[in-house]
Amino acid sequence: MDLRKIFEPGGRMSELMPDYECRPQQIEVALAIQRALENKTHCLAEAGTGVGKSIAYLVPMALHSLTGKKVIVSSFTLHLQAQIVNKDIPIVQSVLPRPFTVALMKGRSNYLCLNSLDIETPNFLLIGDPLFERIRQWSRETNTGDVAELGFTFPNWGDICSDQDMCRRLECRYFNECFYYKARKAASEADIVVVNHSLFFSDLAIRMADPNGGVLPGYHCVVFDEAHHIEDTATKAFGIEFSNWRIHSLLSKVRRTRGIGVNPERLQAIEDLNKGLFDIFANYEKQEFFLEDVYSGRRRSDIENAVHMLCTLLDGLNSELAEQNTEGRPELAERLSGLRRICARSSEDLFGAFFGDYEDYVRWVEKARNGKFVTCILRCSPLEVGGLLSEHLWRRVETAVLTSATLATSGQFRYVKARLGISDCVETIQDSPFDFQKQCLLYVPQHLDYPSDNPAYADVVANEMEQIVRASGGRAFLLFTSYRMMNAVYERLSERLPYVLLKQGDKPNEQLVQEFRDHKGACLFGVHSFWEGVDIPGEALSCVVIDKLPFSVPENP
Ligand code: SF4
Repeated sequence: MDLRKIFEPGGRMSELMPDYECRPQQIEVALAIQRALENKTHCLAEAGTGVGKSIAYLVPMALHSLTGKKVIVSSFTLHLQAQIVNKDIPIVQSVLPRPFTVALMKGRSNYLCLNSLDIETPNFLLIGDPLFERIRQWSRETNTGDVAELGFTFPNWGDICSDQDMCRRLECRYFNECFYYKARKAASEADIVVVNHSLFFSDLAIRMADPNGGVLPGYHCVVFDEAHHIEDTATKAFGIEFSNWRIHSLLSKVRRTRGIGVNPERLQAIEDLNKGLFDIFANYEKQEFFLEDVYSGRRRSDIENAVHMLCTLLDGLNSELAEQNTEGRPELAERLSGLRRICARSSEDLFGAFFGDYEDYVRWVEKARNGKFVTCILRCSPLEVGGLLSEHLWRRVETAVLTSATLATSGQFRYVKARLGISDCVETIQDSPFDFQKQCLLYVPQHLDYPSDNPAYADVVANEMEQIVRASGGRAFLLFTSYRMMNAVYERLSERLPYVLLKQGDKPNEQLVQEFRDHKGACLFGVHSFWEGVDIPGEALSCVVIDKLPFSVPENP
């Protein structure tokens, strides 16, 4: 099909959408992707802001899906996933000659587990948690069980969401109603499945170990939107990840299991060792650092002894759970099996993260930026993922499209191709259609001190932001590199600004964006998720203020 007939003036787009503006850059991206599909090769497409790259890739990919080829579209954030499904795909569906089907799929922990909800109900009713009542009400009404539908944050979501180790699968009495398995079934039947990078690469990591494994359906083609993130996401997915919260969560599940007798001293010893170990990392002065950085003198042997001890205690807990009497209580037996799987996996991952003999892997620690529960994450990751991607992804799919506004380096794709292990492919670089010199105003205050944790600095930032936002009549995104600074500035401005103020974390991101669109002059305070991929057309978003440039520290792992 000639894609120009869809995009050019007088084509399907302008027929159906009075506001549609034909952009030559958008057509070039779509044509490059079509060429890659025809030649069963890959495509790298850099498309500047305003090109309309989502529509540019969705049109040729949707047409291709109608030939019986399964397409995965992967975005970086859950928010962008929702935007593709709710905003971009309906446009593409309206301009194509034949309908195609779409399914949205998220990581498992986004879905409510009805079985866990049942099990945890007595515990939460005992506490009298009013949020839990709302969850129970919602569980009866929701069709998706997707946590994004909740208009609030439930701190104990981890206890009632779907979990690989605790899932009873076909043994579960809710299997036919299970939200997670319904999402997987819908994905297996759809022409296009919209996922996020994290889910995509976790699935790929499973397939690398077991070609018949994986949670996504088989696919022929994949598009990576915001593709500049895939190296990082793949690096994390192909390695081991172990946070302080993992053991805490296991222990709280064990303690809440009724009808078993587990040595409380063992549980306490596990808790203390886990806390002691991660406190060492949490108190280290850097935000990200190599494990080697923390080792000095006796510290190395202290840490390694603690890890050995922790693994031994976890194995002991596993055995103790196996010895429980579950006669006549099949549900308890199933729960204990789940807990034992968590024990075994935790012990194995913890040991692997510290002592695993992996060639060309690096061990490092990342402190969580919003550390309410997870304060530190220990990672053991491959130094390079290009070879793995080449072997397990690029050679196996017919076409992979990588697109982003920032993919090339000095006008070439050499660097990204080398990092990701991509060889021959179709390439296109399309500039933004906007004339930034004429259409934008850039303001860089010269009089501010260097960023610091000092409350006086938050005062200065708040004052500066207040003046800017008043000048723009609200209609602003105020973006921060840390929750701490976002909250500090929000506290200072919440009573001073005469606009609707929205803050990340108060509600699900999708809801915040919708409210931002609905309230003229609204201001949204956000961190990482709002830095990219959020589409607010028109004047509703006229000003973006950032507290500092979000560059990583050069010596970070
Ligand atoms: S099948 Fe698994 S995830 Fe679904 S409700 Fe049952 S236990 Fe939960």
